[in-house]
Amino acid sequence: MKKTVLAGLLSVSAAAAMTAAQPALAEPDKGQTIIRGGEQAAVKGSPQFFTGSVRIDPLYPANNAMRSSGGSVTFEPGARSHWHVHPVGQVLIVTSGVGRTQEWGKPVQEIRAGDVVICPVGVKHWHGAAPNSAMTHISICEEKEPGKVVEWMEEVTDAQYNGN
Ligand code: MN
Repeated sequence: MKKTVLAGLLSVSAAAAMTAAQPALAEPDKGQTIIRGGEQAAVKGSPQFFTGSVRIDPLYPANNAMRSSGGSVTFEPGARSHWHVHPVGQVLIVTSGVGRTQEWGKPVQEIRAGDVVICPVGVKHWHGAAPNSAMTHISICEEKEPGKVVEWMEEVTDAQYNGN
């Protein structure tokens, strides 16, 4: 059983704690797996990787046959990720609220529920909530190697967050 789901998004201790609650994995020789809501404990986004209050609700892990994993990430107003890149890219599906995202060297953009953001391989970016609204997105990443879905960089300053 692979035990690396979203490890890059989590603090080391949280990732370690999650392994105990890892759901059964869908393998080709088995039937469907239904991971029930509430089976996987939510974890707090580590201040090593996030500014402000962030909660990660794991959705599904990668396995030996499928390299993507998914999680729902909720940012309280003003909260955001640090700058980072994804070695195999990322898809963000905004499910509620209003948020912000930015590519390095480009303007801050507003994102809203229903928006889908495709972050290409290796493009430095951040994502988070708007100043006055929480934002939740589903994040889907593929692993380049087991457990490797993100490379973290420096924090997003208030000036950057505010588009200055
Ligand atoms: Mn990202």
